[in-house]
Amino acid sequence: MKSVILAGQNVVVSKVICVGRNYVEHIAELSNEIPDEPVIFIKPNSALSKRLLLHTVDQIHYEAEISFLIINGRPAGVGIGLDLTKRDVQSRLKSKGLPWERAKAFDNSAVFSEFVPVAFELSTLRMELYIDEMLVQQGSYELMMYKPLVLLDEVLTFLSLEDGDVLMTGTPKGVGPLVGGTVLTAKLFSDDMLLVESRWPVEHPHG
Ligand code: ZN
Repeated sequence: MKSVILAGQNVVVSKVICVGRNYVEHIAELSNEIPDEPVIFIKPNSALSKRLLLHTVDQIHYEAEISFLIINGRPAGVGIGLDLTKRDVQSRLKSKGLPWERAKAFDNSAVFSEFVPVAFELSTLRMELYIDEMLVQQGSYELMMYKPLVLLDEVLTFLSLEDGDVLMTGTPKGVGPLVGGTVLTAKLFSDDMLLVESRWPVEHPHG
């Protein structure tokens, strides 16, 4: 089973719980409707990857998201995750009302920074994603329609939380395709204090 790192320790991941459409401007960007309840889907443990890989056939979009590692039902760690998405496949599935697993749960579709212990108010969290040196995404607790603890309560209405679950809180505007040879850099802050910085070169799968 694949794991993430919290404060230097490996933590085996149970499931990755993802939220769609949690930032208003990203909803507009994909011409989606604002949902009347959070859109929730899951990536399996097999989706995790340490490397950021292109796909041999399908174009992959990045979605950077503030992510929480859940222990004892609460956010114990926070980091940044990339919810990698086959956007064309997702659009096709959405138009037919079909499940999203082919677009969202494939191998290497979940990449995470290290997690740091939650030792501050969640409301201070914000993140930035850069491609090479260009800022492409900015997200924050403030801009989320459903806040992390509200999302956990919503999840609990139909799903049990287990130690090692990861909650991804949705992506802000600025999603786009991965391009080989570029480098994605994600930064997580509590107010102006840098908590986590992760760099992922975009690699060809057999390179
Ligand atoms: Zn997402």
